[in-house]
Amino acid sequence: MAVAVPTIGSRVRVTTIYPNTYAYRGEDNNYVTYTREGEVVQSIFRDPFMFAVKTGDPDHPVSEYNAKSLHVVKIEYIIGGSKQVATDKKAWKVKSEDGSKFYIVQRIEGKFSCTCKGFEFRKDCKHIGAVSKK
Ligand SMILES: [Zn+2]
Repeated sequence: MAVAVPTIGSRVRVTTIYPNTYAYRGEDNNYVTYTREGEVVQSIFRDPFMFAVKTGDPDHPVSEYNAKSLHVVKIEYIIGGSKQVATDKKAWKVKSEDGSKFYIVQRIEGKFSCTCKGFEFRKDCKHIGAVSKK
């Protein structure tokens, strides 16, 4: 389902979801969500469904989005022009010790989870430890 195209100058938080191509088949957690936030600016693409978000993040200053894309699942409007609201959802790919595969560590509303077996049994693991130290 497509989302509405946000107007230029508004502040938004955009959530996208992508298949986790590294996940084992059969794992529950086969998707990774990303959240970016910032001011809506003119897209460089000449398409009425495209919009861009200026995030202020030096690694990725402008994100281009297509409102018709199935990857864009949610656009939240930030009222009051707050500068940086902490994102409530974050995900990291963490390499296994032997480097043969990846696990997905997610932080949702401050709670960590991981797709590895260790987390399944102990509700904690070294992958979460590696991410939360950063
Ligand atoms: Zn883990």
